[in-house]
Amino acid sequence: MKKLSSPEFARLDERTRLVLAGRDPTDSYGFVNPPIVRGSTVIYQTTEDFLVRKARYTYGTNGNPTLDALEAAANTIEGGAGVVVTPTGLLACTLPFLAFLSAGDHVLVTDSVYRPTRNFCDSMLPRLGIEVTYYDPLICEGIAALFKPNTKAIWTEAPGSQTFEMQDIPAIAAAARERGILTMMDNTWASPLYFDSHKLGVDISVQAGTKYYAGHSDVLIGTVSGRTPELYRTLRKCWETLGIFVAPEDAFLTLRGMRTMAIRLKEQMPAGIEMAKWLQARPEVARVMHPALPEDPGHAIWKRDFTGASSLFAIELKPVSMKAVAAMLDNLTLFGMGASWGGYESLVLPFDCRPYRTATTPGYEGPTVRIHIGLEALDDLKADLDAGFARLRAAS
Ligand SMILES: *Cc1c(COP(=O)(O)O)cnc(C)c1O
Repeated sequence: MKKLSSPEFARLDERTRLVLAGRDPTDSYGFVNPPIVRGSTVIYQTTEDFLVRKARYTYGTNGNPTLDALEAAANTIEGGAGVVVTPTGLLACTLPFLAFLSAGDHVLVTDSVYRPTRNFCDSMLPRLGIEVTYYDPLICEGIAALFKPNTKAIWTEAPGSQTFEMQDIPAIAAAARERGILTMMDNTWASPLYFDSHKLGVDISVQAGTKYYAGHSDVLIGTVSGRTPELYRTLRKCWETLGIFVAPEDAFLTLRGMRTMAIRLKEQMPAGIEMAKWLQARPEVARVMHPALPEDPGHAIWKRDFTGASSLFAIELKPVSMKAVAAMLDNLTLFGMGASWGGYESLVLPFDCRPYRTATTPGYEGPTVRIHIGLEALDDLKADLDAGFARLRAAS
């Protein structure tokens, strides 16, 4: 097998790069996959080498070959200057705040942000002297009206967690860039395969690798990508300074998941859309929140900026008691009830984000349910939900 030059590699399709990235069989005794390298101590040959830390790896917390391989795979689809990996998706969300903000700074955060990120903003940032303002996710270029002299960054997420409001990321990023403000994005829903965040103006791109990267509900992991070498260096420095590390086994499993991610998404996207349409036609459903549906308020932006959709969306049921919702959900046989998503299995969960939103009130009246479509046959999933709707009606 001949080794590709960097320009040759860069010209390949994303899907091909995901198969190749981060592995070099001549570095792993000829085996296809890079090994899981565990280790704290690195041995140096001479005093001189040790004093100047002359080694490819200098200590466990300063880099590891298995993590490097995962970083390379993530970087090839992010298309930025470099990626750091974190032990959870949540830490991938919180690290940019710690890396780029200081006491006296102000940050704008979308009201539709992933809730644990909001918890971090509410509990940690005030202690560090950083001011947070939540804004309407649908604000577009109007974000500029919220800029203060000390605004340093804008946190975005498209579509929003639970409620799926579609943000106009290019418009927000352009307004921010004009003022030297950083645009940060939690891009977990679409992944870099379906939303090219750096190209569309995002400076710091975050991925909960727990979801489609790992893809099998067996790993917690995250990645943060910096658009420019300078942004990447700042991220990397913060990563090393805080002593962040990811278990090489988790990095290995995530890398394994990424090899098949493009085809999993290719299967899960149409399955999610078909299920969303099927639910749209159900008499028990008031509304389906999925930006790939033409009726969705965010559809035009999705069509303009995204090249695909993940299989996560939400429905609003027509007003009905929580007892009826429980009758439906408790006895599903294929949909597990639980947080997280992006694995091969279907999931469902009831939610209500109205109590904790502060800048906007999501306009729904009936109970809301989030749905993740896995790799099961759609007809089996529809039959499971169909029986669930019968229980819901009987309990209403
Ligand atoms: C799950 C999720 C995260 C956090 O990932 P964990 O690995 O579970 O900490 C962050 N953002 C979004 C949008 C998520 O769905």
